[in-house]
Amino acid sequence: MSTTVKNQDKTSQTLDWRDGQPYSLRFQDVYFSTSADNPQQGVLETDYVFLKHNQLAQRWQHLSQPSFTIAETGFGTGLNFLCACHLWLSSAPSTARLHFISTEKYPLTLAQMQQAHAIWSDLANVSQALLAQYSALSEGVHRFSLFSGRIVFTLHIGDIQSCLPEIQTPVDAWFLDGFAPAKNPEIWAPALFTHMARLSHRQTTFATFTSAGVVRRALIAHGFSVNKATGYGKKREMLYGHFSGENTLKANPSPNTVAIIGGGIAGCATAYALANRGIKVTLLESHANVAQEASGNPVGVLYPRLAANPNTADAIALSSYLYTLRLLTQLGIEHPDLGRCGLLQLAFNARETARIEAIAKRDLDVEIGRYVDASEASALAGVPLSHAGLYFPNAGWISPQAFCRALLQHTNITVLTQACVAQLTKQQHEWQIHTQQGQTLSADAVVIANANEALQLAPAAHLPISAVRGQMTTVSANPQSASLKTVLCTEGYLTPAIQGSHCVGATFDSQDTSLDIREADNLSNIDMLEHMSPQLMGLKHQQFNGRAALRCATPDYLPLVGQLLNATALTASPPKHKTSAQDLPWHSSLYVNVGHGTKGLTTAPLCAELLASRLVGDPLPVASSLAHALDANRFLLKTLGLKRLVNLNV
Ligand code: SAM
Repeated sequence: MSTTVKNQDKTSQTLDWRDGQPYSLRFQDVYFSTSADNPQQGVLETDYVFLKHNQLAQRWQHLSQPSFTIAETGFGTGLNFLCACHLWLSSAPSTARLHFISTEKYPLTLAQMQQAHAIWSDLANVSQALLAQYSALSEGVHRFSLFSGRIVFTLHIGDIQSCLPEIQTPVDAWFLDGFAPAKNPEIWAPALFTHMARLSHRQTTFATFTSAGVVRRALIAHGFSVNKATGYGKKREMLYGHFSGENTLKANPSPNTVAIIGGGIAGCATAYALANRGIKVTLLESHANVAQEASGNPVGVLYPRLAANPNTADAIALSSYLYTLRLLTQLGIEHPDLGRCGLLQLAFNARETARIEAIAKRDLDVEIGRYVDASEASALAGVPLSHAGLYFPNAGWISPQAFCRALLQHTNITVLTQACVAQLTKQQHEWQIHTQQGQTLSADAVVIANANEALQLAPAAHLPISAVRGQMTTVSANPQSASLKTVLCTEGYLTPAIQGSHCVGATFDSQDTSLDIREADNLSNIDMLEHMSPQLMGLKHQQFNGRAALRCATPDYLPLVGQLLNATALTASPPKHKTSAQDLPWHSSLYVNVGHGTKGLTTAPLCAELLASRLVGDPLPVASSLAHALDANRFLLKTLGLKRLVNLNV
């Protein structure tokens, strides 16, 4: 099998190290000002050009808004990011959030980032926090949350021309840093200034190391007041200024309190994402403990189910997987609750072989996944395998209950168990949540995250979700199986031995809602091992136990996320053709995060972050096409012939 040129190889071929600092061979330019005598030169330049000329220290000391947004062109080594975060942590109120949005077409590898950062000892705490979560960066949007949500970093990987239209939230300060305009005119193309004007308001500032006339004229033409200052180091002049054009940018009022219905992975992850934004959350769970239904399995596997050809579902799978990996690092979940042991997807039949070979030809970062032949797969797995496959080095297994518990460890979260929500009523500006147990509580907003049970609540009763039965099997390890080191996947999965037992699963029965444990289902799980390795077939004779649960599936197998439309009102009087999304009958402050099927451990956290970002008006953690595909009302609007209104920001 021929190997493709991976992202990482492409970057390393175009990066040189001069005086210990990175130099772009592609653009024949330095990433920042360098000097053989002073390794801190780059830090001093960033401090002078970007921080001082955006007056960040003064603005942050007297910050009256809950968050501040910086947008940057060209992330590079992240030096500007590190310096801005360092200043933020020491000067801004501890309850405020810094949004840092950056764009990068040629991301550095983790090793290159480590090498570049090594000399900036004053920035080590921010660098460590970033690099702990920095690995594979596929094209698209990546969300990092650092320092308990005080810094929210949104990195758009791709050409700036496709990244800028994705930014929808107002920007308070611009860092224009994309190599010299003469060496990289593309990044300074007119569209940059059009988007800057679209996203700027009267207090928005900008700064750039360049004083090129083409940049100065474009800024002025787009409504910016431009000043010149002495440049840093060898540069004679630089530009800075503020937006003085007209713009009406909408700010969402954030709720102070949110009630979340359901304590599975979707509810817990939503609680965490909101609590991190300073919102007081009450999570209501009908069982005596959280994570009792589909999230109650002893183990779940973490990996992205990719498609032969990239499509929206594939991009959601990949973004979700990478986001969950970062979240696990943030939460500090480790062994024995998490095994990042790698996962092998085996090419065990013709269909899977074709899919896997097609994926192997994609330009995937090796940190995400790579093709391995049967002999390498066997060495990685620690058992003989007769199939080639895809190897995901950072994938593995997790205890969903431990994941849920870790998400709920937040002072802003209160958990009410044995609280089964029976009804929701709206009282002026707040929701009343009534439980079967007779409690009533109120909240500014409600998120329905109780999977199939959502259908019992009137505003969500129309959602096209259905229960899918799944049984997994726990089987005692034997000496042959104990040598298995990675998760193996064919049509199901097998974990390495965890505290003496393997988990194998799972069955998939759409028309079946029974939770009884079936011998036949355990046997069908165990039979899957035949396609994995003959060395594992002895497990057939070991002791096994089953656990059945119902997942919540949607017709297109993608979750439903976002604010709910009032389906009854909408269906009773369908709007005219020219209606805009704002004019539709919305349930104000009522949201859902359901329909995660078999993939909730990866999709639910990213969907929770998407929902929380929407709720408070933060930058979105995914590309707009993905948010569109996840929209909670997509089926309803399609049925009414109003597909064009899906996901239009309201
Ligand atoms: N701010 C960076 C730092 O702190 O290290 C330095 C940025 S470096 C001067 C410019 C960056 O812009 C490079 O990383 C380069 O790969 C990126 N870049 C160049 N052209 C681009 C484009 N068309 N779209 C997005 N990024 C681009």
